[in-house]
Amino acid sequence: MSYSLVVHGGAGTILKSTMTPEKEAAYHAGLFRALKAGEDVLSAGGTALDAVTAAVCALEDEPLFNSGCGAVFTDQGEQEMDAAIMDGKDRSAGAVASIFGPKNPVRAARAVMENTVHVMMTGPNALEVARKAGLEFAEKDYFFTKARWDALQETLAMKQAGSEDDDPSRKHGTVGAVARDEAGNLAAATSTGGWTGKAAGRIGDTPVIGAGTYADNETCAVSATGHGEVFIRYTAASEIASRMRYAGETLEQAANHVVMHDLANNDGSGGVIAVDRAGNITLPFNSEGMYRGYVRSGEEPHTEIYR
Ligand code: ASP
Repeated sequence: MSYSLVVHGGAGTILKSTMTPEKEAAYHAGLFRALKAGEDVLSAGGTALDAVTAAVCALEDEPLFNSGCGAVFTDQGEQEMDAAIMDGKDRSAGAVASIFGPKNPVRAARAVMENTVHVMMTGPNALEVARKAGLEFAEKDYFFTKARWDALQETLAMKQAGSEDDDPSRKHGTVGAVARDEAGNLAAATSTGGWTGKAAGRIGDTPVIGAGTYADNETCAVSATGHGEVFIRYTAASEIASRMRYAGETLEQAANHVVMHDLANNDGSGGVIAVDRAGNITLPFNSEGMYRGYVRSGEEPHTEIYR
């Protein structure tokens, strides 16, 4: 049996015109580290669930990506993080919304899944679940990056001048991973700071099971990135699974339809990564680029940014 692992580092903040060779190399290196962290689990016979956890933690630890350290700021100058994880084996799922403190929000989501009877938590009790699970917490200076702070100032200045655009490349970003392990189980995990300048308290698609994150062994595992409100309204991730389940579409057909039609035609810029139970993968996006990478058993890891 073979394994597959796909990761993304978001579909935003990615204009080719503002990219430098050094930055580009750093993004590729970050994606490689995530692939390595996840593949180490899978090649040792570990579970898809552990692989996506490891890969997303590596991306959360990387300040270049909008999650964990390096998350974007709300309009109040705070960082509020969303994360989710789902096990395709039994559809168990956990999510945290609008939290600050745990170094790896995806681990907090997993703690909700494994240690509570709930699926989604926010507020002090979500942090309490993370604390009880023994997760590492960090202070503001750990999560802070100047680049994200400057992006907020730019966004606030544009808002004040009434010249705010909806350029997705300036605002967005997220990280995620999907995997199929050697036993044929699927899992997905996603983690984000959301949008630069989002309203405090806003929750995106990332922690919403079926919108930004989904896994079901019968069909596929999906992790999304993009304009979260649209991904929620179009139930992007579970729609891909439904098209496979009820319309008999392949993973690629289903994901392409949702990203290039449902989302693209409705202001839903972004993309998804997905894997099916046979280990097929697909990574469609309708934005200028999407930080992404994949590795399959017996193959070299591969990363890309633009088309
Ligand atoms: N989907 C995320 C959100 O809306 C942001 C992103 O992926 O760019 O919170």
